[in-house]
Parts: sequence; structure tokens; C-alpha cells
Amino acid sequence: MTHFPHTDSPSAELKGIQLAYPKGPAVLNGLDWQLLPGQVVGLLGRNGAGKTTLLETLLGLREPDAGRVHLLGQDVQHLDDATRARIGYVPQHSDLFEGFTPAQLLAYFKSFYPRWNDAKVEGLMSRWDIRAEQPIRKLSGGQKQRLSIIRALAHEPDLLVLDEPVASLDPAGRRDFLRELVGEVLDRGATVVFSTHILSDLERVAFNVAFLTQGRIALQAPLDELLDQVCAFTGSVTEMAALMARLNAQPLKRTPLEAGRERVLARLPAGEAVPGGVAVDPVNLDDLFAELT
Ligand code: ADP
Repeated sequence: MTHFPHTDSPSAELKGIQLAYPKGPAVLNGLDWQLLPGQVVGLLGRNGAGKTTLLETLLGLREPDAGRVHLLGQDVQHLDDATRARIGYVPQHSDLFEGFTPAQLLAYFKSFYPRWNDAKVEGLMSRWDIRAEQPIRKLSGGQKQRLSIIRALAHEPDLLVLDEPVASLDPAGRRDFLRELVGEVLDRGATVVFSTHILSDLERVAFNVAFLTQGRIALQAPLDELLDQVCAFTGSVTEMAALMARLNAQPLKRTPLEAGRERVLARLPAGEAVPGGVAVDPVNLDDLFAELT
């Protein structure tokens, strides 16, 4: 788990979340998760892993079968208006009032929020090439997505949740968008969480990554730290058990091999040596995604 060097209380905290759709298997299965102020977290998981379900549960849009969610210190089922106004959400498919123009849409949303940054809105509209006065239905998919993101950034939320926000943006749009998100966090210590299955989106900035697999967050850590530290160890089962005990490491994934050997994915703390019989290989983000999701 990631720990930032400050003591702020979490922006979002989920404990023991259990959720299954009617007649379906558990999608979230005893999930614990914490998001801290100043974190940009990429939520990674395969299609169908439960990313949308998790983000909806985090926002209180879906009630879990068990467990509890706190946002900005309040129970998600009893958020007061002031706290609600500190949260921003960009769903995967926004229903954007197709008959409105962007200017009308933004004016409408502005009326709900005590805080609204007109200068930011204007800057992004021009940078992201969205004309304020044409009907939303005439915008491309990517432009609609960008407009949703502008809408969610405009009230300067302290907690910003985005579900696959880059899905229909071109690569240049993604880079701008990611810079904008990071700017949000650096400026105001906000928390940003977004889901994706596009690994290259994460590699541009020092994000935290969280892996959702089998209904739980299997691992969350700063990306650069993961790439520096996580290795694949191969050796005999006995050697491996001794090594993990010595490193005080939690195996992230164990794969049995032939002849009493195994491959173990775990962190190798800087400066630690490994016994001669054990092979150590570096792991990249693609490997991590393949092995942990
Ligand atoms: P992801 O966002 O990671 O692709 P989802 O949260 O959309 O995953 O879905 C997780 C699982 O729950 C999938 O198996 C999906 O089919 C199922 N699911 C999602 N929404 C519903 C729903 N409204 N009713 C029943 N099953 C659903």
C-alpha cells in the first residue's frame, strides 16, 4: 500500500465492500481501498473486472451488499450538500443534454456549484477546440468526452472520479488531458482516480496504480516504485520461502513450475541481495498487468 508523507485523512475510504448483481457472482469481494489527498490513481483492470461497479460504489450510486464508504470524511449515503459539491464525476457514458450547446450546459451546471472556475473553463474550451455555441449532438465522441471532463473540472473538485475518461480521445488529447489532471492535483492537493485498461496512459506521469482483480485491490503503489522494485524470482519452493521471509516480502503472485520450482512476483527492496540459486528478472507494466489482473 502507498503511504504519502502527510497525515491528511483519506478523500475516499472503502472497507469490506461486498457486491454482487442479482443472480451473479461477487463482483467486489471484501474490497478495501483508500485514496489520499494529492494522489492521482489509475485503476487498472481487465474488461469486466468491476471498475465501473467499484467507481459507482465509491460514489454512492450503488449500494454494496456489505461494507462502508466514506468520502471526504462523511458516510457516502449521508453526504451534505457542501461535501457533495467537492466531488466531481465523469461517467463512462455521459448523458449530455444533446439539444443544449456547450455554453448552455456549462451555465446549467454552474448554477449548482458554489465554486466555478470560468477562466479554467474558457481556457480548456479553446485549447480542446470545443465551440461553445453549436449543439452538443454535433460534437464528435472525443469532443463530448472532453466537454464532460471540462464540466467536472470546472467546480474544482477535491475528489475527481473518471470512468475510462480517455477511451475516445486521440493520443494528443490524452496527453493534454493527463497534464490537466496532474495540474489539478499539484495546484490544490485534490485526489483524482480514473479507470483505464490502456497501460500507456499511465506511463506518462508518476501516477499511483491500483490493480483490481478478483473483486479486490490486489496492489496499489506509485508506478515508478513498482517498476523499480517488483521483480520476478525463479527458484526452488524452499529457496523462495526463505527469500520471501528474509525480505519480509508479500508474494504478489506465485506460479508453480516443474521440478519443485516456482516463479514469484514480489518487491525487492533497494540494496537487497538475492541468493545465487534464485534468478531475478525485471518486470514491466505490461507484465504486471498480465500477471495481476
Ligand atoms: P469493468 O468496468 O471493469 O469493465 P463492470 O463493473 O462494468 O466492469 O462489470 C463487472 C461485472 O459485473 C461484469 O461481469 C458485468 O457483466 C457485470 N455487470 C455490470 N453491470 C451489471 C448490471 N447492471 N447487472 C448485472 N451485471 C452487471
